Amino acid sequence: MGHDTGTPEKRRALPTTTANGGRATTARVPRGRQIHRTFNNIKITVLCGLVTILVLRGYIGLNLGTSDADAVNRHLIEETNRILAEIRSDKEPDDPEDQSESEINPNVTYALGPKITNWDQERKVWLDQNQQFPSHVNGKPRILLVTGSPPGPCDNAIGDHYLLKGTKNKIDYCRLHGIEILYNMAHLDKELAGYWAKLPLIRRLLLSHPEVEWIWWMDSDALFTDMVFEIPLPKYDGYNMVIHGYPDLLFNQKSWIALNTGSFLFRNCQWSLDLLDEWAPMGPKGKIRDEAGKILTANLKGRPAFEADDQSALIYLLISKKDQWMNKVFVENSYYLHGYWAGLVDRYEEMIEKYHPGLGDERWPFITHFVGCKPCGSYGDYPVERCLSSMERAFNFADNQVLELYGFRHRGLLSPKIKRIRNETATPLEFVDQFDIRRPVHGSNGSRS
Ligand code: UDP
Ligand code: MN
Repeated sequence: MGHDTGTPEKRRALPTTTANGGRATTARVPRGRQIHRTFNNIKITVLCGLVTILVLRGYIGLNLGTSDADAVNRHLIEETNRILAEIRSDKEPDDPEDQSESEINPNVTYALGPKITNWDQERKVWLDQNQQFPSHVNGKPRILLVTGSPPGPCDNAIGDHYLLKGTKNKIDYCRLHGIEILYNMAHLDKELAGYWAKLPLIRRLLLSHPEVEWIWWMDSDALFTDMVFEIPLPKYDGYNMVIHGYPDLLFNQKSWIALNTGSFLFRNCQWSLDLLDEWAPMGPKGKIRDEAGKILTANLKGRPAFEADDQSALIYLLISKKDQWMNKVFVENSYYLHGYWAGLVDRYEEMIEKYHPGLGDERWPFITHFVGCKPCGSYGDYPVERCLSSMERAFNFADNQVLELYGFRHRGLLSPKIKRIRNETATPLEFVDQFDIRRPVHGSNGSRS
């Protein structure tokens, strides 16, 4: 850069000594100036010394501070790891129950608890005597939505983040529709850990909450994606179980995915306790579960070889004892009580363009279930990035329906950031009815498109 070349030249002219050395130059300087210069030099030396001391002090001080902070950090990491290891380990050496643990007898059919035979009568008496806890409120059956996750933290922090998002999503839906919600993290029966944990839990809750008419199980990896749709309960008046599935896949093809146990309802009655009793015996972990897995794989179409899972066991039970059970099981597929995520999450933009919440079916799926993603574990059937971005899209698609009530929306389906969609108003109550999904403008059960 030609026009800049002047600057370095000027700077080169600044030094007080010349190219031929300081001594020759100094000899020609008058004595008064010399004393002044010496004094200046002393001042500069003292200043340099001070700066050196300051820098050294700062350096030493900083070092001391850093090692203090390091020690604190190390302690924090050690403590976190110790607590993680403790809560991740299944073993509780101080627990006498664990020490006296014996293999359960494979010749005795496993039972969830003492056989209960008179629940309908007992519940009826209890309801009569406890009218402050009615099973129907404002003419609607009382529903308890039950979900949960393992007692320990997920293998990855992101798994816990999506458990939290799944929980927020369910709290929102339940709050908007007057449904009670219960989140469980305990293994009520250690034989039935993992996907089997829902069985002893549901049984316990049926018995502990006689006021609840329907228990609705929902997996942690299932999200509500239609915040307006409501389960059409009157349709199930003569039934005790409602589950998503396809009768043809169930009875003709005997497919292991004919039903999905990620979201289903049980009526609080003797029939449900009996079904749980018949469903549970393949569940105890170890030899029983492994052997039962072989029977299920041999009998169900498409099933890979692995230990018995709750879904296959239910399908197998309903196929083999069709006459005993099916008259009270409603196999639902007119809306997505469970919707398989892979076919749905890429269509949200199209749905937003063409439809609206409240439909619950393929136009606006009620529930999207991330089967095979295992966000809380380490080994899913799909690439983790695809699962996480799909879960994020589903969460935000649903969350938009909640935020819109309050005048906001996510900037995009992959964005946690939000934007305002309505101006603030000085008369806010004018808009409350319009945006309240408890008073849906579209009809609440998909009857309108
Ligand atoms: N679950 C639980 N406790 C456990 C393990 C699992 O409550 O210790 C619940 C959790 O809600 C989970 C469900 O059981 O979503 C079923 O497991 P998963 O979703 O992994 O099975 P998938 O639907 O993928 O077959
Ligand atoms: Mn699941």
